[in-house]
Order: sequence, then C-alpha cells, then structure tokens
Amino acid sequence: MDRKHEILHQYFGYPSFRGGQEALIDAQLAGRDAFGVMPTGGGKSLCYQIPALLLEGITLVISPLISLMKDQVMALKKSGVPAAYINSSLSPDQIRLVYQNLLAGQYRLVYIAPERLLTEGFLSVVRRVKIALVAVDEAHCISQWGQDFRPSYLRIVDFLGQLEDRPVVSAFTATATQQVQEDVARILGLRDPLRVVTGFDRPNLRFEVRRPQDKNAALLSLLADRPHQSGIVYCAARREVETVCQMLRDRGIAATRYHGGLSESERRVNQEDFIYDRRTVMVATNAFGMGIDKSNVTFVIHYAMPQSMEAYYQEAGRAGRDGGVADCILLYAPGDIRTAKYLIEHPSEQETLSEEERRRVVEQGLARLEQMIGYCKTTDCLRGYILDYFGQAHEAACGNCGNCTADFAERDITRQAQMILSCVKRISDHLGYSLGATGVMQTLRGSKNKRILSLGLDTISTYGLMRDTSRQELQGMIDSLENQGYLRTHVSHGGLMLTERAGAVLFRNEPVSMAVRRRSEAVRAPERRPRGEEGLITALKALRLRLAKEEKVPAYIVFTNAALEDMAAREPVTMEEFLTVSGVGSHKAQRYGEAFLAEIQRYREGRGER
Ligand code: ADP
Ligand code: MG
Ligand code: ZN
Repeated sequence: MDRKHEILHQYFGYPSFRGGQEALIDAQLAGRDAFGVMPTGGGKSLCYQIPALLLEGITLVISPLISLMKDQVMALKKSGVPAAYINSSLSPDQIRLVYQNLLAGQYRLVYIAPERLLTEGFLSVVRRVKIALVAVDEAHCISQWGQDFRPSYLRIVDFLGQLEDRPVVSAFTATATQQVQEDVARILGLRDPLRVVTGFDRPNLRFEVRRPQDKNAALLSLLADRPHQSGIVYCAARREVETVCQMLRDRGIAATRYHGGLSESERRVNQEDFIYDRRTVMVATNAFGMGIDKSNVTFVIHYAMPQSMEAYYQEAGRAGRDGGVADCILLYAPGDIRTAKYLIEHPSEQETLSEEERRRVVEQGLARLEQMIGYCKTTDCLRGYILDYFGQAHEAACGNCGNCTADFAERDITRQAQMILSCVKRISDHLGYSLGATGVMQTLRGSKNKRILSLGLDTISTYGLMRDTSRQELQGMIDSLENQGYLRTHVSHGGLMLTERAGAVLFRNEPVSMAVRRRSEAVRAPERRPRGEEGLITALKALRLRLAKEEKVPAYIVFTNAALEDMAAREPVTMEEFLTVSGVGSHKAQRYGEAFLAEIQRYREGRGER
C-alpha cells in the first residue's frame, strides 16, 4: 500500500478515495499546483490534509471563517493530526504560543485567516520554517465575480510574493462557474495547476420549487410529512428567521434558530442543539451552515428565494451529505424578488470595499439574481437547470425533480399572450417607460388602483381586457412568457419589456402555449433506512453524545452519523473489526474503541446473542 492510502486508513479511517481526491493529492505530492472544484461534501479537505501529512514542511491552510477553522482543527486533532489555527479569536498570548510551537515543528497544518497573513509576527515566523504547501480553501472568495468576494483574500498573492521559496499552491472550491474558476487560477497565479472538476450533480438530492399561496401552511405540511427528521429552513432575513421559528415552536415543532444578530453564545447553543439532534429543525439565514458537517440532514427548505444559484446550491447541498435521499424544496413567491434585490443593493458589510468594487459587486449580484429567478420560474428539469448553470452536460430530464415528476398539460394561450404583450407595449408607449408585472396585471385586470388611474392607464385600449383572469393565473402566464423569451424583466428597475421574439406573436400570429401543472404533486418524504438496526444506532448515538459531552466537542467530531451507521451494520466484536468501520482511524479506535465495542456487545446480549 502506498503512503497516501496508509494515511487515509490510519488517520481518517476510510477505505478508499472519492472521485478526484487521489489525482489532486498526487499532483501536490509531486510538487505541482492543484485546483479542485468539487461539490459540497465532496471531500475537499482531505485533498490538502493528506499531502500535509506527507510533504516535508508545514502546510498553511487559508480559510475564510473562524468557525470553519476551529471545526477542522478540532476534527484533525481527534484523528491524531497535530494542527492549529491563527485568527482573531485568539489572544496575543495564545498566538505567541502557536508561533512557538510552529517554530518547534510541532504542527503539520496551520489554518490561518487571510487578514493575518501579512502581519509582521507571522511573516517573521514563516521565514524561519519551511512552508511546503499553501492550500486555499473556499478559493472563490478571491474572485469579484464570485458570490463571496473577500478583498482580504487578495493578500494571499502578496503573501506568496514575500516567501523566498514558492511553495506548492492549491485551491479548492465548491461553487465556481467557469468564469470564477478562471479568475481564481489567474489571480492566485497558479502554475500549470492540475485542475480537477468533479461533477456538480448530487443524484441523491431531489429538487422542487413550489409557489404556495401561504408559505407557513406549506412549510407546516412539509414538516408534518417528515417527523423526527433533521432539516434546515433557510430564510431571507433575520426577522423572518425569528417569526418562522416562533411559528414552528408554537406548533410544537422542535425548532431552533441561527442568524448573525444573535449573541455568540446563543448561536453556539442553537447550533449544537441542532447538531446533537436535540432540536430537529434549524431555521436560519445564510449565516448558518458553512463548515457544518452534519450528515443526517434530510431536507433543506428555502422559505424564500436566495440571491444566487451558487448560494442556493451550496445551502441546498447541505442535505444528504451521507448519500441518503434528501429533499431540496424552494418556496417561491414573486415578492421574494424585491427582498433579494434589496439585500443585494444593501449588503451587510463584512469588509470595506471601494466605491468601484461595491458597484461591481452589486451589478454582479443582480445578474446572478436573474439566473436564480429563472430557476424558480422554469418548467424544465431543475437538476438540468442547475447543471447548466455550472456548465456541466446532462440528460434533458432527470426524471426525479419537481418539474420532471409534475404532471404538465399544454395549454394554448395565444390570445392571452397577444393581450399581455400588447398591454406591455401600450404602457411603455403611453408612459415612455415600462412598469413591472404588478402594474401590467393591474392594467389588464382593470384595477381602480390610484397609481394606475393617476398614470392615465385606464385610457389605454388594453385596460380591463383580462378582467376575468385571476391574478395568479395572469402571473403564471407572464412568467411563462418570460420563460419562453417573449418578455424580460429589466434587472435594475424591474420593468417588463418586450423582446424581439414578441413581434412574432403580436404581428404574425405565432401560436403560444404554456405548460400548466395539472395538480401539484405532493412529495412524499423519502424513506430513510439506515443499514444497521435502529435500536443499536440509537444506543451508539447515546454513547457518542456522552463521550462528546465529556470531551466538550460536537458529536460528529467523535464519529459522523455515517460512521455510526456503518458500525451498526457491521457490529464489530474485535478491535480489528472495529478498524474496518468507515470513519474509524487508528487514533479514534484507540480512544473510543473499547467503549463502542462494549456498547455493541451489550446490545447483542440484550438481543439474546453472545
Ligand atoms: P467539502 O469540504 O468538500 O464540502 P469535506 O472535506 O468537509 O467536504 O468532507 C465531507 C465529508 O466526507 C467529511 O465527513 C469527510 O470526512 C468525508 N470524506 C471525505 N473523503 C472521504 C472518503 N474518501 N471516504 C469517505 N468519506 C470521506
Ligand atoms: Mg470544505
Ligand atoms: Zn428533473
């Protein structure tokens, strides 16, 4: 067996590599730069952690979030890998201690926040040791085209320039479009990197978009179908988190909440309640989730549309990390667009941007939003839409998403399309500018709304033409026309505008049809059947919880759910058998083996076996 496989077994307890890992590891070991683009949960960390254990010298890992670093360092230490982190959560004394140990050669990996790279103290320390590898995690943060641009990531470039010997540099990210990938490689100055882009597809995730009249009712019914299952409900804003969480609690659902406005201690407690399964539903803003490796999340529901496909896929991707079937359901309402736009135009500042940078970020944000809106409105395969976005080829229909399984009927709407398009045209002829969908619908339905009357829209010929069509039905037709490319919404002012294609309908009688959902398919909660006996898994979880509490770490740091399920399926008796469990390395076997073997033995006896 070669060294990297040995390390994989010994420290991490896994039998084999996943797609892409081995090639990326080999490249770095051979001194070549590497660039890994793999989906959330794909196993990017191992790609630099294993070289770190084999290369001569220290590996620096650059990571954007304090919680993420803490988590990974804790997990590494439990696996027997000496590691530390340097960020603003440490006191000057603690940082000095890390420097001392670093100089004494006590760590294989040091995680560091980008803001710290250029400090005098750190620079003087790294000049005195050999840096073998600089691994940039969440590398999309360096690109202004990415959703999480962090100017501090640009310091990595200056930092590398300050080193006498350039180390191997590797970069990792989950959500990078082609453009962002190019940007990352260029800015970081990767030298002929081995680039591995594993598929973006997550076949075990089932995607669906719903447009409920009443989001709370829709959410409650989804949760009622999924009792005792663990899931995340993402909301657009802090206030929404509070009201939704309260609403769920009022109905006796074990919900907890997370957002940037809560105290650090409440966030910690709530996050742990969720991770320890004391509370099954986490209601949160997008502040929650990065670096959370909770494997038994079986659904991610978006209470509102997020701001970009990258954000959506990252958040939804937190479901089904263990490979089990999981649902990703988005509850969409047209009003979500306004909220998202507001949030993009008024970002909560994390870092100071120049006026120019800010303008670019907002502009990019609005363009990404448009793609996100497209996802909510499309009647095509949702998985296909996602893969298109990330530039991956795919089958026309996955057969397993909300749109593929919905029962659509074709309906001819040529006449209605003519009325809608001509109304859009007349409004802009009359006003000299265009109105959003709401104004168009009010005009078509003959609304007595003050604004409509004061604009004189009751005098144009299409006023009241569609009096008998319901708001919802009309909205559906407008969406469909937009989908089919007859109309488009201007990104910044939100006005509905005709496209060139509209002319064919207006002047040449081109027929138009739309897909209508016959009935909205009620998604059944997926059956989750872990391979081991339920009773044993419960017992092992209880033991894990006790040990985790003693050691003051989250349960998954002791063992992941996937590891416990494998353990329950194998029911090891000897230490040797225990080591074959996926996720059990020698360090953890030494530390926890006896306790878990005893628990399994007890369980077998209770079942009447010896
Ligand atoms: P990413 O950073 O790509 O989102 P992580 O590095 O956090 O993913 O890995 C996700 C999970 O997969 C972790 O629990 C990790 O231990 C596990 N994992 C990684 N590589 C393997 C492997 N080769 N076999 C089994 N599990 C793995
Ligand atoms: Mg990661
Ligand atoms: Zn599909």
